[in-house]
Amino acid sequence: MTCEEAFHESILNYGGRFDTSTLLPDDTRALFEDHAFRFRKYLEAWKATYPKNSPLIHFDWVKNDEVNAYAFNGAKVKLNDWYFIGITKGAIIYLHILFERMLACKQFFPTIGIPDGEMDFNPIPDLIPHLASLETPGIEWVLPKDPIRKVFSEFLIRMIADFLFYHELSHVLDGHVGFINRGGRPVRFELCATRRTKKKKDYRSHHMMEILADSYAMTAGLAELMAICDQPYLIGTSLSQFYNNRYDALRHWSFVVSFYFRLCANGITSSPDVYDEDHPPPIMRQARVCQHGAAAIREYWPAVDIEKARKSLIEGCAAADHAIAYLMGLSEVKVDAINKAFQDLPQYDTDNVAHWENELKPKMVKHSFRALPNIRLDR
Ligand SMILES: [Zn+2]
Repeated sequence: MTCEEAFHESILNYGGRFDTSTLLPDDTRALFEDHAFRFRKYLEAWKATYPKNSPLIHFDWVKNDEVNAYAFNGAKVKLNDWYFIGITKGAIIYLHILFERMLACKQFFPTIGIPDGEMDFNPIPDLIPHLASLETPGIEWVLPKDPIRKVFSEFLIRMIADFLFYHELSHVLDGHVGFINRGGRPVRFELCATRRTKKKKDYRSHHMMEILADSYAMTAGLAELMAICDQPYLIGTSLSQFYNNRYDALRHWSFVVSFYFRLCANGITSSPDVYDEDHPPPIMRQARVCQHGAAAIREYWPAVDIEKARKSLIEGCAAADHAIAYLMGLSEVKVDAINKAFQDLPQYDTDNVAHWENELKPKMVKHSFRALPNIRLDR
């Protein structure tokens, strides 16, 4: 059985494998191939760094129009040593349509390139994480006219796609997939069909796994971002306006990830009181990655001004809320929620850290493929 066949069989309930080789070269095939090429390079890099304790991990696409991502292993096809990461076809197309459209409208990112030649924006009232919301009449897949704005949209899409990928990779490497398999659940997936408005039981283990996966993706994203900012050949080029300023780059990173959290959960109405079984409230995830990012910057990039970096990350959160409201044509933006999330975060962290250290971490050790991390509690 090939990796592709095992992937297909294991994820059949969610749509099976999406074979991009069936797409015509001038279709969206290159777009999928570019992302997959990068993700497979990340897997190779991981293997090269840790050759002795690397599981076999295969990345592929899932034939599903929803926005979703999955981490699972090959138990269903009796290949317990194999692990898989899948991202839906819908996620990639959705992100491209949405972010390219934003840069094709003069109202978004007015400081990037030459926005005056771009079109006027029409709201998308039913903006939900499903391709159908972008396929209503009048919502076409448009590209920015200005090449700089096109490159910038690709930069944003790459950041959000990498976040999704690294988040799933953490679910494998940190033992989350092995741990939930033990409990009889075959697949860790990101979007749930049902949501509850009350915290009915203790979801801390599942929330912790998401927090750790977000943290891993944040550190990986930061490393990529800082490496790009350090590339001297960009200085003096037209690209330097968004790669060469670390604080702008951090703001953009926070913007796209906040966007993902909010869109893929409860959108602009997200509240710190909304729980689901598997994921922390999106607003808490936003606040947590900002705090984690600030701690990681303090540790790994000491030359970066920590307070300016933190400010940029928080500004990115607020900018995402404004952008979602604008995209949906809402007149009012509720940005108080993020401030409340930052206030609530210390207690949320305290509860989670105690649970992690005392209960979950000892059980997770035997399923993980790397030293288990600590939560960064930078304030
Ligand atoms: Zn997850």
